Parts: sequence; structure tokens; C-alpha cells
Amino acid sequence: MVIKPKIRGFICTNAHPEGCAENVQRQIKYVQQQPALASAPKRVLVIGSSTGYGLATRIVAAFSGQAQTLGVCFEKEPTEKRTGTAGWYNTAAFHQAAEKASLYAKTINGDAFSDELKDQVIAAIKADLGQVDLVVYSLASPKRKDPESGEVFSSTLKPIGKQYTTKTYDTDKDKVHDITLEPANDDEIYNTVKVMGGEDWGRWIKALHAAGVLAADCKTTAYTYIGKQLTWPIYGHATIGKAKEDLDRAAAALRHQYQDINLSAYVSSLKALVTQASSAIPVMPLYISLMYGVMKEEGTHEGCIEQAYRLLTEGLYHPAPSLDDAHRLRMDGKETNDATQAKIETLWHQVTQDNFHELADYKQYHQDFLNLFGFGFENVDYDKDVDPRVKW
Ligand code: NAD
Repeated sequence: MVIKPKIRGFICTNAHPEGCAENVQRQIKYVQQQPALASAPKRVLVIGSSTGYGLATRIVAAFSGQAQTLGVCFEKEPTEKRTGTAGWYNTAAFHQAAEKASLYAKTINGDAFSDELKDQVIAAIKADLGQVDLVVYSLASPKRKDPESGEVFSSTLKPIGKQYTTKTYDTDKDKVHDITLEPANDDEIYNTVKVMGGEDWGRWIKALHAAGVLAADCKTTAYTYIGKQLTWPIYGHATIGKAKEDLDRAAAALRHQYQDINLSAYVSSLKALVTQASSAIPVMPLYISLMYGVMKEEGTHEGCIEQAYRLLTEGLYHPAPSLDDAHRLRMDGKETNDATQAKIETLWHQVTQDNFHELADYKQYHQDFLNLFGFGFENVDYDKDVDPRVKW
């Protein structure tokens, strides 16, 4: 099959196996060019391991720290007629590279919110690793089935308290326009916290601890985005922000509850980047395109892999990491500092349909977006017939 990108709105509905492998290879190459992790975790569980920040963290743990990694993801297997999802191909490429490097890697594909999946992971840890030293929680999902009640909760991306009108960029129509977002009601806030808050992270740690598979001095982290004024109305102070606040509650509870194994639980704040999750959030494509331009000019531009590498070296495995008031590891300072934000804000107020492509680095945004699905790599032959049925 010859595979070309099929873009529908903010999502690409297919993926290229060789391009996804290239994406994984480039990230592996990056970490191999950095100094190896000094005090690295040796057995790592990554929940949400197939794309974005979870994949990057897994790559750093394995290829910089030589860790054995167990991944969890929710991806679609390819058929003869339909490609798999990007996360499927990324995982296949990760496994291939890990095997070549004689590194243990196993990935379990299924619903991480379910108890059955947690049981499968515990069985795999007991059989293959004994215990784990690091649990990374990097899920981004629009819905979650509560394993106790069976109820399915859906998240919403809405402001809280009052209507909010702002600029956005429609990637599909190449248009900068105003959007008005209606405020969320209490149910929508509650449901978003149910999906993206700390409840499931807590359930994971509880199940792993009860099974005796968390090593002494184990660490765990979940990821958040905090941002600044420009994104607060739709992110930080919105429904998703409430869910992220709940991660702070969960982290404090985990630190308190699992003192017997000296568990360190952190929320890590990462910078805004193009991932499958962030491209679905109104305002983000415009904000990120402007931010890319500013940060590239400042020489501070980073992708998932650079962030994940710094998180492990300067944060999680640093002997004295700097924490903010809420005990969070902050990897987002190069984006959220006042000087950088002021530059982005100036552009934000100037940007219109006519000057968008001059003021914003949409080229980089679009390139990153295509790369997520394995497209847009100059060294991949997209006219070649490829078999989509890649296995792992
Ligand atoms: P992503 O969409 O690239 O990755 C999500 C991962 O979750 C994938 O591996 C997917 O397979 C997995 N997943 C989703 N639902 C699942 C389920 N039910 N069961 C098992 N696996 C499932 O997302 P991302 O942008 O890398 O986000 C990961 C985390 O990082 C999120 O908490 C997000 O809020 C946070 N974060 C993202 C950004 C950003 O700009 N993208 C910035 C800061 C923090």
C-alpha cells in the first residue's frame, strides 16, 4: 500500500510505518548523543508509552539509562487495508531497537483504566522484572470507564465560570478567527476530573503496591501543563486545569500513603508541544505556532525528547531537584518565563489572518504534526509500496 497522510480536522487518520520508525530512531539518536543517565532507574513502567511524552520518556529510560521497560498503550493494530495508529508503529519500532540493543521491552495494548489491564501488567512485572523503580503516568484520553461503577466519563475542554472569546487558528481551513467557548457546568468539570485527574494514577499505584511490585525508593510521576495567562482561560484555569489540579492532590496523597516504600510522587510540568492530545485543544495550535517562533529565535526550542531527557536528568534523578510551591518538577521554565511570555503575548495581539504565516512558525508546527504520524521525513520514500501489517 502507498500511504499518504489523510488529515481530517486536527487529526491524521492514518500513519506511515517507516516514518514512525524514523521518528523513534531520531529520538533514540538524540538521547545516545547526550551523557548517559547517571543514576538511572533500571525497571520502568510507562503508562501511555506509545506517543508524545510517554514514548519520549520510555526512550530516555531505555536508551540513556539502559532500563528494562514495560509499556501500556491503547493503539489500533493494522490490517491489510488500513494502517495501524502511529502509536502502534512507534511501539513496533521501539521494540525492534530495544531488541537490537539487548534491552528488555514489553508493551501491553489495552485500556489502562481497567482493572484487567492493571492485573496483566502486575503479572508481567512479577514474571519478568520482579519490581519496578519508576512508574510514569502519561495518559491523555477523552474518556474513561470507571472500573467500579462501569460508568463512562467524557472530558470537555471548556472555560470555567464565564464565556471566553479568544483567537484560534483552524489548521484545516488555514484561518485565524475568534471563537467563543461556553463555560462548563459542574457535571462537565466533574467528568473531566474523573478522566484526566489523579484517581486512576492512584488506583495504579495502589494496585502495584498491594501486589508488592513497587521497589523500595520507587518514584512515580504524572504529567501536567500549567502554562501562563494566554492559555490559562482554556487550559490552566479551565476544565482540564481542574483535572490537573487533582493530580497535585493525588501526588500529595501518594507521598503520604506509601511512606513504607519511601515512594516519591511528583507531578511534572512540561512545555506545550504538538502531540495528538494538544492538537485537539482550541487555541493551542495558534499559541504553539507563535511560541515555536519565539523559542527558536531564543535558541530554547525543545521537543518531547529534549524535555523527557531533562526531566530524568535535572528532575526525577537529580539529587536535589528544584520543586515549585506545589512540590512539582518544573521543566517548562524556558516557555513560561516572563520575558518569553511577553514576546509571545505581543505577537498574540498582533496576529491576524493576513500576517499569521509571517508571525508564527506554522511550518514547524505542521512539520511536527506530520511527523507524529510518520509523515514529512525527507529520507522516507512515501511513494513506495509498504506493508502496513507491522507486528510487535
Ligand atoms: P499523546 O496523545 O501523545 O499520548 C497519550 C498516550 O496515552 C498514548 O500512548 C496512548 O496510547 C495512551 N492512552 C490513551 N488512552 C489510553 C487508555 N485508555 N489505555 C491505555 N493507554 C491509553 O499525549 P501527550 O501529549 O504525550 O500527553 C501525555 C501527558 O502529558 C498528558 O497528561 C498531557 O496532559 C501531558 N502534557 C502534554 C503537553 C503537550 O503539550 N502535549 C504538555 C504538558 C503536559
